[in-house]
Amino acid sequence: MPTSKTLPYDVIIIGAGINGCCSAYTLHKAGLRVALIDQEGIASGGSGAAGAFISPKISKAGELKEIMSEAHAEALNFYATHFPSLTLIKPLLHIANSPKEGEKVESFKHETRIKHSNIPHKIQTLLSDEALNASSIYFDMGAVVDAQGVCKAMTEEIDFYLFKVEKFIHADSLWHVGNLCGKHLILSIGAYPKLLPIDYVGLRGIWGHRIDMETSTHIPCILHHHVSISPTTKEGIVAIGATHDVHYSPFSGKAYDAEQGRKILLEKASKTLKLNNINIISDYMGLRSGSNDYLPMLGSLVDAEATLEKHPHMRHGQAVDPSDYIYYPNLTMINGSGGYGFVLAPYLAKRLKEFIVDGRATDPILSPSRFFPRWAKRKNLQS
Ligand SMILES: Cc1cc2nc3c(=O)[nH]c(=O)nc-3n(C[C@H](O)[C@H](O)[C@H](O)COP(=O)(O)OP(=O)(O)OC[C@H]3O[C@@H](n4cnc5c(N)ncnc54)[C@H](O)[C@@H]3O)c2cc1C
Repeated sequence: MPTSKTLPYDVIIIGAGINGCCSAYTLHKAGLRVALIDQEGIASGGSGAAGAFISPKISKAGELKEIMSEAHAEALNFYATHFPSLTLIKPLLHIANSPKEGEKVESFKHETRIKHSNIPHKIQTLLSDEALNASSIYFDMGAVVDAQGVCKAMTEEIDFYLFKVEKFIHADSLWHVGNLCGKHLILSIGAYPKLLPIDYVGLRGIWGHRIDMETSTHIPCILHHHVSISPTTKEGIVAIGATHDVHYSPFSGKAYDAEQGRKILLEKASKTLKLNNINIISDYMGLRSGSNDYLPMLGSLVDAEATLEKHPHMRHGQAVDPSDYIYYPNLTMINGSGGYGFVLAPYLAKRLKEFIVDGRATDPILSPSRFFPRWAKRKNLQS
């Protein structure tokens, strides 16, 4: 742990998942002095559990699709350029897991500019009838990164502090967090308790489990179907993941049934192809943090109490321009990446750098304050 705590940092980041690590890396490269804090260590939350596939999101035309396709292209380039030894480039076969998803795949195929082709014969021979008969798209290039490795590599030159943040204050134009102080504060704490009275920020935790294993079956590409089955950056290791469990929370105090999770993963994988001589090596579990509208969040946070005091009629649905809300000074949230944290992190970190260093406004579509007006009105109805 670094010992010099007297000089103020330019930026303090709370949360060392992929969003915190990638932001720290990008801001440090831009010349800022960065402190990174985590209660458990680098990539100890959802990021440490991730399969970390850099895959396009198969979605219908709209804002989400635009952002995701830009983020996907930036992420492929970013990891392959800066962390080539932690990035495995392979073709990617996405197979629809339901007729409804099949429709999305078909329309995506017609609209996308991402290079795709027919499934090679040797891959077809591996697939189950269900997989062969479903709609699918075979991308010539996909990627999977070593989730924990890449987070650690990004933070090699960053001052890292291991402690749980309980509170922070803003005084004398600086944020004070424990013994540290800095001009900007970044909150990238995923699905963990929010640390501020920001109930309007619509987030939910989605528990996921994935496994690493050995198998005598050769997996020549990344496969996404009911689960993902993929070679990894570790020679001979195949990853299978991940479950989506909206009912389990590690904050409930209940134990998680890992045996059941493994069973679900292997059952789902068997719908795509037959895996022979399986030996499970490790389990990874964690929470994704998904936003209510599936778009990620990057932006300043509204001080709800101060804003409602200034604009009490917002409680009755009065429209107020977001530039008239009161925001916490120099405080930015990055969150809500759902199952695409590794795809989105370079995109979000780049926009964060443009905001903090170049003074460029963040995209209002990504602003966490987009949830505020509805929350203010609903709060009035409830009280
Ligand atoms: C099983 C699984 C598989 C996934 N697969 C993929 C995939 O293939 N591709 C992809 O792009 N994404 C994938 N994801 C999603 C991706 O992992 C998440 O979107 C990403 O981890 C979000 O990163 P984050 O930095 O926002 O949050 P997190 O990684 O959860 O990091 C938050 C950090 O904040 C710390 N923290 C919280 N509160 C405090 C506090 N008070 N004080 C100090 N520290 C604190 C935590 O310890 C934690 O380390 C997967 C997720 C899971 C769970």
